[in-house]
Amino acid sequence: MAAGGDYGLCHAVLELEKAKAGNACFARQLKKCRGACVGAEPMVAHSMRLLEGLSKLRLKAWPFTGPAYLKEGEEVLLVDNWCFLGAVKSDEELSTLFEKQKAQFDRDTYRILSKVVSKMKPLATGRARGSPLLNRSSQFSKSRVSLRHKWELAAAHR
Ligand SMILES: [Zn+2]
Repeated sequence: MAAGGDYGLCHAVLELEKAKAGNACFARQLKKCRGACVGAEPMVAHSMRLLEGLSKLRLKAWPFTGPAYLKEGEEVLLVDNWCFLGAVKSDEELSTLFEKQKAQFDRDTYRILSKVVSKMKPLATGRARGSPLLNRSSQFSKSRVSLRHKWELAAAHR
C-alpha cells in the first residue's frame, strides 16, 4: 500500500504529515484523502479502511522451519523465509551458498514465491543425511517461463 494512496486515507491522521488540527492534509487537497482530517469522514470509517489496507499487506507465515527448495530444470532454487538465496546445481554449490548467503526480503520476490510455495519442499526433511539433493526427475518442464527469469524481470522493474 502506498501511504494513504488508493485507500483515501488521511496523511495527517496517519501522522505522515503534520497538519494543524482541523486543517486539511495535503492528500485532501489532492482529493486523495476522504477527509478524516477535517471531519468530512468519521474516524471509525477511516480506521476500518486502514485495517483493510494493512491486512492486504500482511505476509503469510513462512510454512517451513528452515530453508526450502524448488526444483526448476537442472537448478534448485533455495529460499528461506521468503528470501531467494540463490540457485545451485550441486551439493557443493549448496554448501557454498549457505556460507555466503545474504538474502534480503523484498516484496517482488515475496509475491512470486507466495504463488509457488506449495511446490517447495523443506530442505531439512526432504533430504536424508548424505543423500544427494539433486536427482534427475524434474517437476518443471523447460518450456515454462522460469521462476528465475521472473525474478530477473521483477528486479529489473524495481
Ligand atoms: Zn486528510
